[in-house]
Amino acid sequence: MDVRGARITVFGMAKSGLAAIDLLKRQGALLRASDCRPLDQLPPPGVDFVIQSPEALADCDIAVLSPGVPPGLPIFQEAASRGVRIVGDVEAASWYLQGPILGITGSNGKTTTTALAGHLLDAAGIPCQVGGNIGRPLASMVDSSRPDQWNVLELSSFQLETSHTLRVRIAAVLNITPDHLDRHGAFDNYAAAKARILLNQAPDDSAVLNAENPAAAALARQAASRVHWFNAGGSVQPGFWRESDQLFANGHAFMPASEIRLRGRHNIENVLAAACCVHLAGAPLEAIRSGVASFAGVEHRIEFVRTVRGVDYYNDSKATNVDATLKALESFDGGLWVILGGKDKNSDYTVLRPLLEARARAVLLIGAAAEKIESHLAGSVELRHCGDLAHAVGFAASHASPAETVLLAPACASFDQFTSYEHRGRTFKELVHALEE
Ligand code: ADP
Repeated sequence: MDVRGARITVFGMAKSGLAAIDLLKRQGALLRASDCRPLDQLPPPGVDFVIQSPEALADCDIAVLSPGVPPGLPIFQEAASRGVRIVGDVEAASWYLQGPILGITGSNGKTTTTALAGHLLDAAGIPCQVGGNIGRPLASMVDSSRPDQWNVLELSSFQLETSHTLRVRIAAVLNITPDHLDRHGAFDNYAAAKARILLNQAPDDSAVLNAENPAAAALARQAASRVHWFNAGGSVQPGFWRESDQLFANGHAFMPASEIRLRGRHNIENVLAAACCVHLAGAPLEAIRSGVASFAGVEHRIEFVRTVRGVDYYNDSKATNVDATLKALESFDGGLWVILGGKDKNSDYTVLRPLLEARARAVLLIGAAAEKIESHLAGSVELRHCGDLAHAVGFAASHASPAETVLLAPACASFDQFTSYEHRGRTFKELVHALEE
């Protein structure tokens, strides 16, 4: 794509936006930066700045949106009707990227599966670089991209919504469950955004789909590529599956599931998905086995913190929606003190009731959503209002018995009391490390 002389406004001045400005400037475009925050609260963009408003789109040919900027805002819809091209940061960077893309999307498990896929390709000696939504913007991967190197990308629904020409050679859809309904509105819109990962696939590309997740499996009907399945619940052809303690690749048992170091059935799904993707990219099964066995997981995802007086503490701050919290609860047998709450995302917490009844000693409520969660869970499990994390950890530490587990898996966003889920997870870990033996 030739952008020489094109007038481009980049919206969102965080890491992705700044990387997009740098890349597009070097491609000869005329750049302008925009954000909803004023310039004095931002890192210097190095180009003209206009606060997010219709003026920021004046005389503009292309608007590039960072992942956090909603394309549905009236200013973008109005600009699109005037002929401005609205694209996401991934789409813009993909115009200049060399090498094939192995892309992973889903409501939950993207980061874990993306990190694992990169780790498995490394284990197999297949050149790759890892990025996208996982923390390294695609625009900053362009310079190091090569035709013979895989780009392993975590792709969010926000990034897929604003991609039009992106071609994902191996595309995995892990699951589609309700999340971000505050931003996407109906579930169908959200599922349609995820489906765009298959948009420009050709017959010799691959779609890797979860046979057990109805919305992900339904995408097989619209895939123009070859469909491969993964299934943690039994055999499925062609693809990767688990049957009792064995993992199978197209009928061939290649490793015991007990060698997986990550907790929970959902992580078996992530392993099968990553294994299927990298096998399609050429990784042999022996390398996949040793790579899986050496993968210790990603911070803030059911991360073991410490045992204090016989009580285990786990940080699953990344459980920012109800489905992730369900998976965390399923990963433990019982004796759980579960910390729930934060900023509500229009979620239905009643679905947590059966597992909480079966496995939780008590739920410790924090943050802005506490009252709503209380109304959804009333009568199912003991509930305790703690206000904030410090009080929740303090309460759990003084009430939990040896062999029980304190689990932060809040089912909510963090922005009521924290700057991010990482901030929330780090705060939890600091509180746990400060507990006395
Ligand atoms: P994402 O990048 O999609 O948010 P992560 O790997 O960061 O995914 O995990 C997010 C949360 O979802 C964590 O709480 C994690 O334990 C949980 N999780 C991970 N994999 C899955 C899965 N396959 N299905 C459901 N929940 C999952």
